[in-house]
Amino acid sequence: MADIDDGPTVRLVAHCRRCRGWLLSPRSVAQGIGPTCAMRERAEQRAAEAAAAAPTLVLFELPADNSEDGQPRDLLDLLDLAS
Ligand SMILES: [Zn+2]
Repeated sequence: MADIDDGPTVRLVAHCRRCRGWLLSPRSVAQGIGPTCAMRERAEQRAAEAAAAAPTLVLFELPADNSEDGQPRDLLDLLDLAS
């Protein structure tokens, strides 16, 4: 009677790790994620990679290069002028 309940319960992951929905196909169970969520996850991953690859947005305009009016721009220029 109780022989089924005896022993440790070993179960494959049958819930989607993303939406907690039931996974129906053995392949989804093996991957731990449903096909729809897998698709969304891939899309998100691509978006994240694209964002990482995109050039960093400049939030602040750097002051314009003022070397035209002969002003030293940094310490190296100052040292160069002093020597
Ligand atoms: Zn899902």
